[in-house]
Amino acid sequence: MRVTRRQFLRTSTAALGVGLLGGCAAAMQGDFMPKGGKRVVVVGGGWGGATAAKYLRLGDPSIEVVLLEPNKEFISCPFSNLVLSGVRTLPSLTISYDGLRAHGVKVLHAPAVAIEPEIQRVRVGEGFLQYDRLIVSPGVDFIFEQIDGAGQGERVVHAWKAGDQTVTLAHQLQSMPDGDVFVLTVPPVAFRCPPGPYERTSQIAWYLKTNKPKSKLIVLDANQNIVSKTGLFRAAWKAYPNIDYRASNKVTKVDFGERVVTTEFGDRVKFDVLNLIPPQRAGAIALRSGLGGDDQRWCPVDHVTYESTKARNIHVIGDATTGLPVPKSGNVANSMGKITAHAVTRLLAGKPPVPMPPGNTCYSWVSDREAIAVVNAYKIENNKVVQIEQKLTPAQSPQVAQNAVGWAQSIWHDMLG
Ligand SMILES: Cc1cc2nc3c(=O)[nH]c(=O)nc-3n(C[C@H](O)[C@H](O)[C@H](O)COP(=O)(O)OP(=O)(O)OC[C@H]3O[C@@H](n4cnc5c(N)ncnc54)[C@H](O)[C@@H]3O)c2cc1C
Repeated sequence: MRVTRRQFLRTSTAALGVGLLGGCAAAMQGDFMPKGGKRVVVVGGGWGGATAAKYLRLGDPSIEVVLLEPNKEFISCPFSNLVLSGVRTLPSLTISYDGLRAHGVKVLHAPAVAIEPEIQRVRVGEGFLQYDRLIVSPGVDFIFEQIDGAGQGERVVHAWKAGDQTVTLAHQLQSMPDGDVFVLTVPPVAFRCPPGPYERTSQIAWYLKTNKPKSKLIVLDANQNIVSKTGLFRAAWKAYPNIDYRASNKVTKVDFGERVVTTEFGDRVKFDVLNLIPPQRAGAIALRSGLGGDDQRWCPVDHVTYESTKARNIHVIGDATTGLPVPKSGNVANSMGKITAHAVTRLLAGKPPVPMPPGNTCYSWVSDREAIAVVNAYKIENNKVVQIEQKLTPAQSPQVAQNAVGWAQSIWHDMLG
């Protein structure tokens, strides 16, 4: 059988693609996966990016979707505070990308190094990928330079991206002698998961109360009060006299040798174990590529399509965005992923996008068996996302915790199944 040049190119490109998707970084030179038809590249396979990649393929299987994600497996931040208290394990929060592959998403385990909006290319390794539309969901990065002594974060245990650091912090907590002091620092808003530090406070306090009754937990919060679900957390903490919560205590310095943190007012607080959650900004790739707003911290977007207001044909979703009245939550990132996939599919087909608001439900565990929750509903008004209402559960309960388990199972499958 005679093979035409076109067939040969198609076959060899597919073979190259398989090699690359297997992680052959050395082959990432030049235009290493030449574009055939319409292609969307997704940067980041977390809550926003994984969802967008899957729903693009569900919406229009003729679109080639390439997902760039350096991590080999997805690890969920939601529920990761339960790993600290020993209630869950990290493997129970770890999910393979095979589900996305089954939908035809080309998962490439490599980081995007740069974006070139003018020529619609993403640089990967020493090569590049061409795109028709780009979706960027890189999550957050840390502003270590605002904490004197933190360096580039080499010794900082934040555990604010689930993975090795979660295991390290769990080990430090669980192996600390009874009577030692655990210090948790909360950064100023805006940061990933507004209730997250307070859920963590509850988990650590529950663990210490149960296992190390002579230990205490000092929480140094840069904010004036608990940022989210305030009354419900305050009620839950009545069961934890081991919490010493200090509002308006922004940590500006750390000394790992002396094991002391210093607040902006000069108070020095000794720690035995330190969980320092640094101030945050959008993932570096977004800011490096000119997608940041005037503050060079977060990325402004259109509220209907999530297209960047800084670059055409590039959409930014998830924690990296700013300007919407929504929390930086996995649930919101998942919502944005679906809405953006729908908008991009229509835009590529020459159709107008359909305005759709996101939604949010956020659970927080306050012990090993009880949780609280908040639900936010939104609408689109004059092309802007507007909050309609916010509802909190009346009290903590085991029933809400069961609902949380159902939420997690369902949304993990929605993203990656
Ligand atoms: C302790 C904790 C508890 C939480 N609990 C909840 C909860 O109960 N409910 C809830 O809704 N939310 C919760 N969240 C928040 C939730 O995890 C985030 O809002 C969500 O992860 C945001 O999704 P994202 O896609 O923006 O970022 P991520 O999910 O972090 O995904 C970003 C991805 O981009 C990748 N990436 C970064 N740079 C590049 C690059 N250059 N090239 C390629 N890939 C790149 C990263 O490897 C990462 O996989 C919690 C967070 C924490 C820390």
